This record gives sequence, C-alpha cells and structure tokens, in this order.
Amino acid sequence: MQQLDLVIYNETGLHARPAKTLVNLAKTFESDIKIQHGAKKVNAKSMIKVLTLGVKKEGRITVEIDGADELAASVAIEEAVVSGLGETVNHPSSNGHSEAAASETPSNGHAKPELKANELQGVAASPGLACGPVVRWTESEFDIPTDHQGEAAELEAFNDAVVKTQAQLEALVVKVTKDLSAEEAEIFEAHLEILGDPELQNTVKEQIKAGKNGAQSWHAACEEQATALSQVGDELLAARAADVRDLSGRLLSHLLNQPQNSRVLHQPSIILARDLSPSDTASLNKNMVLGFVTSEGGPNAHSAIIARAMGIPAIVSLGEGLDSIGDDATIVVNGTNGRVEINPSAESLAIVKAEQAKIAEKQAAMLAMAQDFAKTKDGVRIEVFGNGGSAADSELCKQNGAEGIGLLRTEFLFLGKEEEPTEAEQFETYSKILEVMGDRPVVFRTLDIGGDKPVPYITVPNEENPFLGERGVRLMVNHYPEMLRTQLKALLRAYKESGASKMAIMFPMVGQLYEWHSARQHFNDVAKELGVDTKGIELGIMIEVPSAALNAPAFAAEVDFFSIGTNDLTQYTLAIDRQHPTLAGKADGLEPAVLHLIKLTAEAAHEAGKWVGVCGELAADPAATKILIGLGIDELSVNNNAIPALKDRIRQCTKTECEAVAQKALRLRSAADVRALT
Ligand code: PEP
Ligand code: MG
Repeated sequence: MQQLDLVIYNETGLHARPAKTLVNLAKTFESDIKIQHGAKKVNAKSMIKVLTLGVKKEGRITVEIDGADELAASVAIEEAVVSGLGETVNHPSSNGHSEAAASETPSNGHAKPELKANELQGVAASPGLACGPVVRWTESEFDIPTDHQGEAAELEAFNDAVVKTQAQLEALVVKVTKDLSAEEAEIFEAHLEILGDPELQNTVKEQIKAGKNGAQSWHAACEEQATALSQVGDELLAARAADVRDLSGRLLSHLLNQPQNSRVLHQPSIILARDLSPSDTASLNKNMVLGFVTSEGGPNAHSAIIARAMGIPAIVSLGEGLDSIGDDATIVVNGTNGRVEINPSAESLAIVKAEQAKIAEKQAAMLAMAQDFAKTKDGVRIEVFGNGGSAADSELCKQNGAEGIGLLRTEFLFLGKEEEPTEAEQFETYSKILEVMGDRPVVFRTLDIGGDKPVPYITVPNEENPFLGERGVRLMVNHYPEMLRTQLKALLRAYKESGASKMAIMFPMVGQLYEWHSARQHFNDVAKELGVDTKGIELGIMIEVPSAALNAPAFAAEVDFFSIGTNDLTQYTLAIDRQHPTLAGKADGLEPAVLHLIKLTAEAAHEAGKWVGVCGELAADPAATKILIGLGIDELSVNNNAIPALKDRIRQCTKTECEAVAQKALRLRSAADVRALT
C-alpha cells in the first residue's frame, strides 16, 4: 500500500473543480484509493464523498492507495495535487501570484449608509444595478409515487432516466461552453460526475432491491447527500447541495415524465426565488432577466457564478424578506452592495438611473460603435462576425454588431435529441437563422459530432481515442452520408426559399483531401437533385487539424475560404485534450507552433485569392487580436458578448504595428513569452 500526506493549497479547498479532477484521476487507476481528512475516510472515486470531506485551503489529507497500480497512482496523485488539480495555486514556498479561479465576487463594502424603510439587505452575488417588475419562481414539485413495479422494471426505468439525464447534461455542457465558457460548463460536468457516482448509484439500486421504487430511492439518496453537504459547515459546500438537488429534479422529471416548471418570462423582469438551480440560471434569457434575488444560496453558488458570467445583477441570501416583496412590486437590485429597494420613490429611481447610466457608459460607447465596420487606424478593415448555434444567438450577435455569423454550430439542433431532426425541422431552423441575419452572411458548419459529443442515433464503435476517431466530417462521409445529405438539402432549400443572396457552408475537422472531396461531392449531388443555383454559396473548410494547415495550399486551390478553429487546432498541435482535467490550461492557442500553422493557412489562402477567418476562442482573446491581424486574418468570429470590445481593440491599432507584433511572436519560444509580448 502507498500512503501520501498532502496539503491542499487551492484557494477554496477541495471544492467542485479540484475535487472532480482528483476523482477523475483516481478513477483511471484500478487500485482502491481512499482519502482521509480528520476522522473521515472516503472513497476517492466518489465525487460526493470527496466533497463531503469539506477540505479547506491548507487542509491536510492522507491518501491511501492499495492495488496493482498503486505506485503509478501515488506518483500521479501527488503530482496533480501539488500542481493545483487544474487550478493555479500559491504554495507557501512560491513567490508566484495566485490567479483567482472564480470570477471576483462583489464586495459588500464596510461603511454602508443605513437601510431605508423600503430596503432589504442580502448578500451581493453579481455586480450591477437592475430595476424592474418582479416575477416569483416556485420550484418544481414532483409527485413521487409509492407503488413498486417490480425490481426489474424499476431498475430499467431508473437506468433509462439516467441515460436521458446524461444526454441532456452533455448537451448542456456543449451549449454552456459555447455560450458562456468552459469554466461555467464545468458545473454541469460536475453534475455528470455526481450522476455517475458509484456510491450514489449503488445506494439507489440497493434501495430498489429493498422494495422502494426508483423515484423514492433516487430522491432519498440525493436528499441525504445534499443534507450531508449542507451540514459540513462550509459555505462553499453548502452551495453544492443546490447542485445535487438540481440534478435530482432533472432525473426525476425524466423518470416520472413530469416537466420541470416552465421558466418563460413575458416581459423583462427580476426573478425572485428561494434558490435558483444552476440549470435555471444557465437557461436564463439575458434579454428578459434583469436580475435575480434569492432568499437562500450564497455568492459561491453556481447560480451566482453563472450570473456573473452573464453580467446579470444578483443578490442571494435575502432570507424571509423575500416574502415581503409584493407580487406586483417594482424593485431595484443592487448587486454590488446586496440591497433590494422595494417600490423605489421617484427620487430614488432617478439616482438609480443615473448610476446605471454611468456603469453602462463604457459598454454603451463600445456598443454604439459596434454596428460600424472595424478598421485599423491605417484603414484596414477586419470583418467581425459572431458565433452561435440558433436563431436567438444570431439575433444577439446582430444586436452586438456582428457583420455576419462566422460559425453557426448546427450540432445544437442535434444534441440532446432522441431522434435525428428531420429535414423539415432543420429547414425551419436554418430558414429562421437566415431570416434573422437578412443580408448579413451566415457560415453554417455541417454537423460536427461523434466521439466527444455523442447522440443516441449515431453509433460509433467504442474508440480508445474518440478525438482521433470517427468525428466531424469524417464520421459523416464514412458512416452517415445520408445524414449529411439531409442536412445539405435542408440548408440548400432554406437558402433558395429565403431568397438570400449569399450563404456559406463549411465542413468541420477536415484533415485530408478525400474528406473534403467527398463532402463537396455530396453537396454537388444534392444541389443538382434540388435544382438549386449555387452561385451565391461559398464552400469552405475549417482548419482544425495540423495536416490541413500544413497542406493548406492544396486545399486553398479548391475551397472558397478557410475558417481556423483554434480550439481543435491547438488541441491537435499540442497533443493536449482540450477537456483534459489538468493539462487543458496549457493548451494555449498563442503557442508559437499554433501561430506558425495559422500563418501558413493565411498565406496559402491569400496566394489563392481566398479569405481566411478565425472562429475558435482565440479570436476573442484580447492578447491575440494584434497577432491574428498581423498574420493576415481577414475575419474574426467571436461570441456575441465579445464583439463590441473586439471592434474597439481593432480600432486602436495599425496593421503595420500588428504585423511587427506577429513577426516577433513567431520568433518566441512559448505561449507565455507571447502573452508577455502583447
Ligand atoms: C474550434 O475547434 O476552434 C471550433 C471553433 O470548433 P468547436 O469549438 O465547435 O470544436
Ligand atoms: Mg472544432
């Protein structure tokens, strides 16, 4: 047996993210691994159990590893804990500055003016000021049956609900990653982790065998874990109880076939609720939700983290005061000092409005300029497009100044569905997107699925390395050509019937010429079959695989454009899984090796008279703007929130200066050196 005595230096202890990293790592070993903290010893492969240890910053843990691969496990676990379990940590011996992992929480301030009679004090959770009518959200309550359909039937129904919940969460991870960030998506990855927790699953199955039905067993097991988490006496862990309850409701809604409460708002409002589940928060429509106030929860709850990412003012932990707010009240939410003002006076409202104006001033200035083209100081226009997955996203992009959609991820129509969307459904969605964008061009990316983004109607043989297997266009042309043709038909029909003058289609994950040739052949066949004139349609490929960048001249001769997917290009160039629990932070698109591939791609495109864009996350990275412009990128496509600031940055520099910065960057030795340069 191996034993390790370790100290956790993570800022917030062994909370969700580092715990998940540790649990995932433990699961890769056969050995039995236990973690002890104080008097409690738990299975290191159970996320919930590890969380209930309540290890805080500078907490000591003892890891006991017993089994065939104990030595390898001990080395890996020690290294992972010391290097911060995916977070930057400040060891007492190091001089480094720790980077706060979560977004900064707003301060409650010290010297606050006295509360007015119509004010309530809560805990500030997401800064900013909001004012508007309230809407009270109640929680979904499930009618949990007491009958038992027999062990086999109960187990089958439970397993079925687990599979559906898993598919829904996987789709949510993809959506939140694209809409917000990978950091917020980790919340739902943690839900997936809890869902698959061996201890939780075993408890439920044992209860079913002992005579309880699936819903009773699951509900009881989750409540037990949630209560255990809230009793550790740690604010951060108490917030995780909301995650367990959120997951519990999600699975129950599948198991009992009862919908969770509808969360549709009919006018811009401020939400009042006991607590918002992370799922509720992630699905908030930013245009309709002005802010939210909860009676429970804390500033570290995932709902608060998501609110900060979305820029929605929020207050938590208002207590019973929440019930004193009338259903027809108008309130002011001050997410910076944690105060709620009920039915503010005209004078108060005027102050709030002035304050709101000041806060919004900078953003407004950038937004006001966002519909104009972005030109460098020496007059070079860089096209700024938006990334999205739906008509709603496209609308947001347009409002924020997108000159078109540079990456329309069509997989959102496919993920989380039990069956493949029909041609008619696809036609309707694509038509809506074209309608929203009007004369602004849309680049539709064909289905990029498989491997890491599974759907039930696509079966890929088990692969050791899904990222290197059947995914993207390869999966389509090799195994599902009919699915690709259906999609192309829907796209071509939407184009034809919308009367759009321009549209673009690009294929993902192209690495070799045959994949592009095969996809293009399907496109030509379908266009012929439908009799569509394709003159206004550009056909391009994503450059996400190093071979495509290195062979760019061959592709450039045949395609209409390139769009560089730096997320995957970085992953494949550095051989680092973009979701790797400990290494993903090192997958930096500013690594000189990646920059050289971008340079080759841009040169090849321009030599052939074609345009080249970047639609991966690097396009929105402030440190990359000058370099990408300097490397000759014509179009940058980013999430809607990033558009106004990107245009602002473009206007602050000259192309000549960008070229000089890019040349310097290409000669540097690491991403860190490049970041230091910009
Ligand atoms: C990319 O890989 O950079 C990209 C934009 O595609 P996705 O993130 O959808 O894989
Ligand atoms: Mg990609």
